[in-house]
Amino acid sequence: MLFSSLINQQKARDALLQMVKQQRLAHALLLREPEGSGGLLLALAFATYLMCEQPGDNDACGQCPSCQKMAQLIHPDVHFAFPVVSRKPGSEPTSDDYMQEWREFVREFPYGDLQDWLQLIHAENRQANVTAAECREIVRKLSLKSFEGRYKILIFWLPEYLGQQGNRLLKLVEEPPDDTLMLFVSQQPQRILSTIASRLQTVQLNPLPAEEITQALITRAQADPQMATRIGLAANGNYRMALRLLHDAHADWLEMLRSWLNSIAKQQIPALVQWIDEMGSTKNGREQQKFFLQYFLNLVEKTIQAHYLLPEQLHLPEAEQDFVNRLKSQFSFSQLCTLSERLNAAIYHIERNAYAKLVFHALTLYMQELLVRPQVNA
Ligand SMILES: [Zn+2]
Repeated sequence: MLFSSLINQQKARDALLQMVKQQRLAHALLLREPEGSGGLLLALAFATYLMCEQPGDNDACGQCPSCQKMAQLIHPDVHFAFPVVSRKPGSEPTSDDYMQEWREFVREFPYGDLQDWLQLIHAENRQANVTAAECREIVRKLSLKSFEGRYKILIFWLPEYLGQQGNRLLKLVEEPPDDTLMLFVSQQPQRILSTIASRLQTVQLNPLPAEEITQALITRAQADPQMATRIGLAANGNYRMALRLLHDAHADWLEMLRSWLNSIAKQQIPALVQWIDEMGSTKNGREQQKFFLQYFLNLVEKTIQAHYLLPEQLHLPEAEQDFVNRLKSQFSFSQLCTLSERLNAAIYHIERNAYAKLVFHALTLYMQELLVRPQVNA
């Protein structure tokens, strides 16, 4: 697992490498990850780098015995902790019970989330958590001497699932044995036990830029470039989500957007009612509704950028570029800015379970108002 296998995240990588080069590596780090941006991969790449026998300036060698053990997740000095479910009622499972599944998860879903993980271990309705037995195991493992004489590393994925039993780790986080490094990878750092969180030094990852997602879909998932661009615009910086969208990419969002705006412009009320009905129906699901809005929002933002960038700097497929040209001729700069705020608010409401048909109805009325009102050029 090398830094070079990550999509983007050079900034977070450099922050980590700087700590090593300046010999001020903290012993407990929190990698804060917006979902689907590669936090687990970053932790693995960093552990690989620290364990590598011949590291380069910016990455591990990828060849030495240590790198090979890391690639298979069998390095004896690198330990893992993650949420698990109990296989038998009353039993206290630990991550060690799930190592085989864990290796499969990292291989198959390097950008995966808890949902992917729980599916892979067939958790069904059982609650995932980190047990007291797990905490005792962590303390035990990190107090051992390292096998290969370098660091002992713990990669703790989703410490937000650690409850009060996490206080058993306090002493370890506060006064760790020599050459110990704990890497906590969290998507909801505000939910980490505060006694632990306050003792961690933070490294922030960024959501992935749309262009990087598009590129990764083309090169890693063999996606069609036009579809990849469309999904890049909708995935909101989340590569795992982008892969899900690619998997069930049937909806032609651009066509849906065109027919909506055409009906608004021509005041075709029955067609609009039908459009809102279809878009807001539960068949589409909240995810799809959100991605449709995200896609539209990104095109509006590209249109705003089109006021000061050349078309080739927008990196859009031809159909999307035509659409952006159309938005640019129909809406003023300030109208585009308020439209973008409106779309952001609509996404916020959809995420919080607002009644979808109402959200699309309100947006339709708003767009109608914009399209009939004379333009005020900003
Ligand atoms: Zn190496």
